[in-house]
Amino acid sequence: MSSIRITERVPSDNTDLAEIILSLLKKKEAEGDIQKVALQFPEGLKRKAHEISYALKKEGYDVVISGEPCWGACDLDLDLIRDSDVLVHIGHAPVDERENVIYEYFSQDFDISWLVDVIPSIKSKKVGLITTIQHVHQINDASEFLETHGIDCVIAEGSERTPFRGQVLGCSYEAARNTGCPEILYIGTGIFHPLGVHLATGARVVAFDPYTGSIEIPDERRLLLKRHALIEKAKDAGSFGIILSKKSGQRREELAGRLAVLSDKADIIEIGEITPEALLNLGYDAYVNTACPRLAYDDQARFPVPVLSPQEFEIVCGAREWEDFEIDEIR
Ligand code: SF4
Repeated sequence: MSSIRITERVPSDNTDLAEIILSLLKKKEAEGDIQKVALQFPEGLKRKAHEISYALKKEGYDVVISGEPCWGACDLDLDLIRDSDVLVHIGHAPVDERENVIYEYFSQDFDISWLVDVIPSIKSKKVGLITTIQHVHQINDASEFLETHGIDCVIAEGSERTPFRGQVLGCSYEAARNTGCPEILYIGTGIFHPLGVHLATGARVVAFDPYTGSIEIPDERRLLLKRHALIEKAKDAGSFGIILSKKSGQRREELAGRLAVLSDKADIIEIGEITPEALLNLGYDAYVNTACPRLAYDDQARFPVPVLSPQEFEIVCGAREWEDFEIDEIR
């Protein structure tokens, strides 16, 4: 995979998405003629499709819209890439670089001065600073604000999947790990990312929600108890389905192959959309998820049987000790 860094590009402010997409298409046309444009939206923005399509058609483009579910840039509509001159993927930063894909992601401002509330929860004079794509354009301002309040910040490069300094994903905590700091400040919503960072790095993590101002110190004990119980349950399974994703940025073929040889009860199953119904119909006693890591952790309650991470399956097979539990990442 080639390296991508987008340090010079400031995310758009969402003011006029159609205009932004049109200007990106014009720029792209310097590389060759574009006639057919495919549009792919995340679930929350699919209703904008008609508006954008209308504006593009007025400029003479043929437009086709992806109706498939889409949860990340790891989930490009591969059929539409093949059938169009260019795919415009909206809502996410790239996890890999492709010639005929334009990514247009979203940013959301928060009030930096709110960070004053998080300062009493930070124990160190120097912290690693991380955030998600929505707020990455403010990470330098956040760092400067904290520095004026006596806290030095380390903002590190991440992995190929996280092209912005300080950016983390639910499948990649490299930007946190690379700070080398024993304490990390996460700016973003939800507890999964900070919990993942804590498990991946061992650092104390302070999670600051920039919308509500709430502050949380993630505690891994509940998650570990649940995962331990699932591992124990899976030890009785008579069959394991190793899930291999068909999605562009979730497909870990080498990993699935390596896991499959750990047990003669395991089969590799290729799936596009991983749903409870699909797993129920397949009828395996347990599954091993090599697709989006969050699926095993976040969605277990929806699934009829244990869905293990690769590392948990290694524990079931005796290839890893429970003491060496790791959170799954795509590296
Ligand atoms: S693999 Fe999962 S966590 Fe990673 S980008 Fe895709 S949806 Fe997000």
